Parts: sequence; C-alpha cells; structure tokens
Amino acid sequence: MKFNISHLLMLLGAAVALVPIVAVDFVIDAYVEHREKTVAERHVSVDSSTVASSASEGVAALRIVWSDSPSLCAQTFVQNAQAAVQNNVSVLQFVVENSDGTQYCDAFGTGVSYAPLSTALPIPGQSETLTVVRYGAMDAPVLKITQEIGETRKLSVFVPLLPQSIESHLRTMAPSTMKRFSLTNNQPILVLGTSGEFEADKAPDDFILAAGYASQFPIKVELAIPFDVARSHYRDLDLVFTVLAALLSGAFLLGVLSYFRRSRVPAFNLERAIERNEIKPYYQPVINLRTGDLVGCEVLCRWEKPNGRVVPPNSFIEYAENTGLAIPMTVSLMQQVRGDLSELCKTIPNFKISINLFEGHFRDGGIVEDVQAIFGNSPISYRQLVFEITERRPLRNTLAATSVISGLHALGCRLAMDDVGTGHSNLAYLATLGVDVIKIDRIFVDMIKKDTTQVPVLDGLIAMGKDLDCEIVAEGVETEEQALYLRAHGVVHAQGYIFAPALKAKIFIELATALHRSGGNARDVLARVATAN
Ligand code: CA
Ligand code: CA
Repeated sequence: MKFNISHLLMLLGAAVALVPIVAVDFVIDAYVEHREKTVAERHVSVDSSTVASSASEGVAALRIVWSDSPSLCAQTFVQNAQAAVQNNVSVLQFVVENSDGTQYCDAFGTGVSYAPLSTALPIPGQSETLTVVRYGAMDAPVLKITQEIGETRKLSVFVPLLPQSIESHLRTMAPSTMKRFSLTNNQPILVLGTSGEFEADKAPDDFILAAGYASQFPIKVELAIPFDVARSHYRDLDLVFTVLAALLSGAFLLGVLSYFRRSRVPAFNLERAIERNEIKPYYQPVINLRTGDLVGCEVLCRWEKPNGRVVPPNSFIEYAENTGLAIPMTVSLMQQVRGDLSELCKTIPNFKISINLFEGHFRDGGIVEDVQAIFGNSPISYRQLVFEITERRPLRNTLAATSVISGLHALGCRLAMDDVGTGHSNLAYLATLGVDVIKIDRIFVDMIKKDTTQVPVLDGLIAMGKDLDCEIVAEGVETEEQALYLRAHGVVHAQGYIFAPALKAKIFIELATALHRSGGNARDVLARVATAN
C-alpha cells in the first residue's frame, strides 16, 4: 500500500486523539503541585508563627522583668522572674551572666544547664540577640534571648523552639514529609522527618517545597513532601479523569475515522472518472475451440487512473451498481468500444462483441435507446452485439426487464446468460424470453482436472444449454485439459487465460487483425503475441 498524505493525516489524527490521555497526567500533576504546595505553605506558616510567638513572648517577658527590677539578682528580680515563668507558657527560665558565661543568678536559684548550638545572632530591629541552645534534658533545641546590660552583664530568657516534644511534633506531620528549622545564616537547628536528613536539598524537583520565616526572628522553617507521595493521594481523581479522557479520545478517534471514511468518497470519484473516460474497455478474446478462430470478445473494464495506476473492476463495480453509476459507465464503455472496434467489425463481419449489463439496466429501460444512439449509425451492426445478464443477482422488475430484453432482441442484438450455474433465479425465467448464449462460470470449468472423464454439474449445464438451443461459452479456461474436455463435450466457444487475458484495445486489435490475415490457428498467434509483449 502506498503511503500518501491521507495516511499521514490519519496517523496525525490518531496522535491528536491520544492528547487528552497524555494531558490528564500533566493536568493532574499541575493540580497536585499547586494544591499540595498551598497545604505545605499553611503548615509552614503555623510553625513559623508558633516560633515567632514563643520568641516574642520571651522578649516581652525579658523586658518586663528588667524594667520592673531595680537591680539584677536582687530579691525583686527573682520574684519577677519567677512570676514571668509562671504567667507565660513559653518562658522556661531566666539567667544573669557575665560576658564569659559565669552565671550570677536565675529564677529558681538552681543554676541553668545549657549548651550553645549557635553563635548569637542579632534580632533585626531589636536590641536583643538570639542563640540556639540545648537546654537541660529537653530533646528539642531552645532559644536563648539575651539583652546586654551595661558592659559586663547579660540578662537572658529561655523559650522553646517547639511547643511540644519532638515525638509529639512528628505526630502532627504527614508521613514522608520533612521539616527543617534553621537560622537565617543557613545553620540548621533541627531536621524532622524520615531519615533525619533534608533530602529535598539533593533533588528539589522531586519535592513540593514551602518555606517561611518566624516574623522578625532569624529563623527559617522549610517543609518538603516527595511529589510521588503527594501524587499518590490523587489516584481516584486520576482514574476518573483518565476514563473521561479515554472516552474523549475514543470519540475523537471515531470522528477522525469517519471523516476519513467520508473523505475517501471524493477520492473514489467514479462519476468523474466515467466523465473523463478513465474507465477503459479491455477485450478478452473468445475462441472457437474447434477451429481455433477468434470469434469475438468480452468487454471487460479497468480504471486507468491519471497517475498510471490500473484498478481492477472488482474494486469499483459493486460501487457502480449500488450508486447507479453502472449505467453511465456502460454508456461510456460502449462509446469507446465503438471507437476501438468499428474497423475490426467491418473487416470481420462475424465478429461478436459481448457487453456486460447490470441489474439496474433492466429497471431503467434507457439501455435500448443508448444502444441505438451509440451503434445505430456505426460500422458495428446490432447483430454483432451480445448483451450479458448475470445470474448472480436476481432481476426484480419483470415488466421493465421484459421490455429491455425484447427491445434488444428487436434490434437484432443477442442475449447471453452470464455466470451460469452460480445463481438459479433467472435462468428459467430468461429461458422463456429466449436466451441466445449461456456462459458457463469458471468455477465449473475449474472442476476439470487432469484425467477427468466426467464433471456431473458441468455436464448438466452443457446439456441444459443444448436443450435450450443456446450457444455455449465456457469462461475461465486455463489449461489444455479443460479446453480438450470442453471441446469433447460439445462446447464450441471459450475464453480464458490459456488463450489471453483481457487486453488493451491496441494490443487486442493488433492480435485480431493478425489472426484474420493469417487465417491461422488463434493459439499460435496468441502465443506469438504473448511472447512479443
Ligand atoms: Ca461477463
Ligand atoms: Ca462471467
């Protein structure tokens, strides 16, 4: 099969039809990305404001204790510090130290056990600094907020980074998510999640990421969810949309196919081909089996496309019959036959031209007028014409059929029953109208094999033809045995590949002329022509 533009377009259509199915993935990916990022940003916002409020509470408590206490470490200071611890959820402890870290006093007089995890960072816009520390036995880091007082003293307050233990905090996080608290100088404070490592640093594209800051405090909170995990929560949505997309694709594909099926009709423009005489008559010789003479031909047709392609009749005959184009097609063929064979018919007065008619010709009586108009004043006489009626399809309108048959008979044309033996509806009926010729179908001729002495069905058809006083033509003769058998059984005329296929007009005329001149045996000349071509 040739690959042409319509195949390409059909492929393109099929590719386009797949777009919705492929697009579903992209659309759902984008939706998941957008939606899950919003959720992650909300979580980050809660965490960062929790840190900010804890730190703000510490700053406020520190300032109150300092302003309300006339001197550090005096009794009032201790009382104020204790009150601040009691009144503020986040405030854990106070400490007064000198610049090298020596502790002077604290809220409970017990000393404060802590270890710095970072350097002191300034809090933008405030006089205090912030240090991350490990505090007592607490598992999560603690923020130490410090105010320098004079040259040598420092007052600090301790507030937690997380309002609960690490374990409780992990329970608030969705499985597979990772959270990182870090200072704005990128020093990590705490990483929570599956492996304790913030894996999103390695392949940020594989994660949905969100980040936020604890207000003015130099602390950053980041959240990462593996995209695949987030995406897996949308399987139902994916399924629904994939089904919808498949339906859409299917509908589109059907549309494309039906478009191309419809658009093939103009490509198959038989009507225009008939107008342009692209349907050409080809002539298959009919031979006398006794004498070897050429006695006539059957007009068969081929569609010779302008691009040089030759289309055999089985690709368009049924279409021609169903659309009624068989009628103008037959007219065009008969006109070409007149042009091709007029000389030959003058030269060989007994030459017979067999033309196939269709069932439609017997409903539309126009064929008799067409035959008159085309052959009426031509060198081809009516009695040189044989019209074949197939037995394959039943003739329906008997009144119209009768008038066509009798009209052709009246002109002097002869009628042949074609494909005899393949149907049975018309034969009895046509017998009463006087069929002149019966053409035995190739399937019965095929039954003659090497050394066959009898073929009951074929023998029956031959006997019937003789009873009806019809001339018999055997079709599809391909072997010597078949020709000999038919001749021995009284069949006089035959056509088939053993003699010649359907030939183009020019070759057929050359052949017929050569045969006539030589008066020789058709098979010898045919053999010469066959080798010459
Ligand atoms: Ca025929
Ligand atoms: Ca036939």
